[in-house]
Amino acid sequence: MSIPDYISPIIGYRVWKWEKTGLKSLCGERWKPSQLLAARCRASVVVGPIAGRAEAVHDAHEPPQTNCTCGVYASKSLEQLLTTGYAKCGIHGEVYLWGTVVEHELGWRAQFAYPKSLFLPPDLIPSETKEMESCLEAFAAYSTDIFIVGGGQKIPLCRRGSGFDAAGLDYLIGKRTQYYARRQRDRTLMRGDRVAVLGRGIAVVERVDSTWIQAVVWNKCELRIARKCIRWDKRNMRWETRPSASVETNGKATAK
Ligand SMILES: [Zn+2]
Repeated sequence: MSIPDYISPIIGYRVWKWEKTGLKSLCGERWKPSQLLAARCRASVVVGPIAGRAEAVHDAHEPPQTNCTCGVYASKSLEQLLTTGYAKCGIHGEVYLWGTVVEHELGWRAQFAYPKSLFLPPDLIPSETKEMESCLEAFAAYSTDIFIVGGGQKIPLCRRGSGFDAAGLDYLIGKRTQYYARRQRDRTLMRGDRVAVLGRGIAVVERVDSTWIQAVVWNKCELRIARKCIRWDKRNMRWETRPSASVETNGKATAK
């Protein structure tokens, strides 16, 4: 996507939300990668927080019109977006505006628009490897300047025309490492957890130390299982072990 070079676009500020694979306006309009967004006039059909004020109920026209509410909206200042709290809605950034542009005191309504830069909150990109990769790919498709912001930092993630920036990728890889470490920690086997002793049943953990766990199957059969033989099974989302890893410790215990 390239902005016609015979015009110099106006640069405004906007917010977007991110939905799985793409940018959307807060009202739900999709901003496709590498494709300009052309405004459409919906004043005659839309009743919303913005268009609802429309006095003009009229036939479709080439947007934006001075006496209408149509056009792609953008603010003149980032401060204004931040003070109105809009920037907290997700992503904020600069936007190119061109074609017919109607000026207002605090912003513009434009015929055409495309994101110039995007500022992402630090937790927007998932830390799980596969999700992270597909999210990064989706952002890169916009081929625009992208930064991760938060905690006073502004880390470049993508540079228009030159792909990913090492600083942004390093940051995300660091977050991913922490994420997996945390997941591992959260999966500490504890009293009350259930362990599937394959082919034998579900054992409930009664005691854990660093080497062994003590568990009970069917409320009567006590098992001692080496801690290192118990694995978290991702697919079944449960702790599992082989029966050979367990030793019965009470023989013929009586059921209570
Ligand atoms: Zn209109």
